[in-house]
Amino acid sequence: MTPEAKKDFEDRIQTYVGREISARKRGLDDVNKVMVRQWCEVMGDNNPVYTDEEFAARSSKGGLIAPPTMLQVWGMEGYSMANEPKEDLQRELHKIFDAQGYSGVLGTNCDLEFKRDLRPGDQVYAREVIESISEQKATSRGLGYFIETRTVFTDQSGEEVGNMKFRVLKFVPDQATQDAAAGAGESEKVAAPTRIHSPRGHDNAWWWEAVDQGKVLIQRCKSCQTLRHPPRPMCGECQSMEWDSIESALQGTVFSFTQIHYPKVPGYQYPLVCAVISLNEGTRLVANVVGCDPEDVTIGMPVKGVVEQVDEATMLPQFYPAG
Ligand SMILES: [Zn+2]
Repeated sequence: MTPEAKKDFEDRIQTYVGREISARKRGLDDVNKVMVRQWCEVMGDNNPVYTDEEFAARSSKGGLIAPPTMLQVWGMEGYSMANEPKEDLQRELHKIFDAQGYSGVLGTNCDLEFKRDLRPGDQVYAREVIESISEQKATSRGLGYFIETRTVFTDQSGEEVGNMKFRVLKFVPDQATQDAAAGAGESEKVAAPTRIHSPRGHDNAWWWEAVDQGKVLIQRCKSCQTLRHPPRPMCGECQSMEWDSIESALQGTVFSFTQIHYPKVPGYQYPLVCAVISLNEGTRLVANVVGCDPEDVTIGMPVKGVVEQVDEATMLPQFYPAG
């Protein structure tokens, strides 16, 4: 992009700042016990102040409240947004970015502020605006811009109950990243992107270090011999903290899988088959199924794993159709 074209583009996107994505609108459902109970079940949140009327009445809350982090739920569009996304200002803005090659999108931050507890019967209204668009940034994902939106949630009396700031990065992915950098006159070639690095902490670094050596280990309780994965400090059967490990033969079957098409994160091939593999040793692990048409992957399919170098920085167990 020439400097003039870049300025035109940036002037154009800045005209969206401060504009309303959606006017103050009442949520599809008022705060209700059914959705709260289902949310608590799905999230595994057992705090009885959300679901147990007697407990809640005796508590400092003086009655049932909705989980504060459900706030966004009350303003959501519902399932239809997946199939028939409405054409709003935000999507219009994203299309302007897409047209300039900034087609990648990555949610980076979500900040929530809670002003008061919501209770069954409360009405929740949401109003969303585009709060800011950053200047161009060079990020590890590529050149891009951060777009921040702000949703203010109000109740039946118009009073604010909380708000949410949501930030996404619109960036130039893959080959386009290199082209854009070359076009900007940078002499240095941008390195091919690698996959997202494995998170290595106190309890699981040993597992990834074995993968780096070409082995998939399965943690085993020293007291009762129960195998477990993913790695964790304590045996779920006997609560022993003593453990060792065995090496998996990496034979098993596809327990479940999904095909990921979008968003396309640099460093990965799409469609990407992510599967839960049942290993013959008895534990399961999440891995990609490769070496076949993604359409041919089925539940129950026998697979054989190999620890492979998938990019410059990453060793991973990958599973191929067996035989
Ligand atoms: Zn045990």
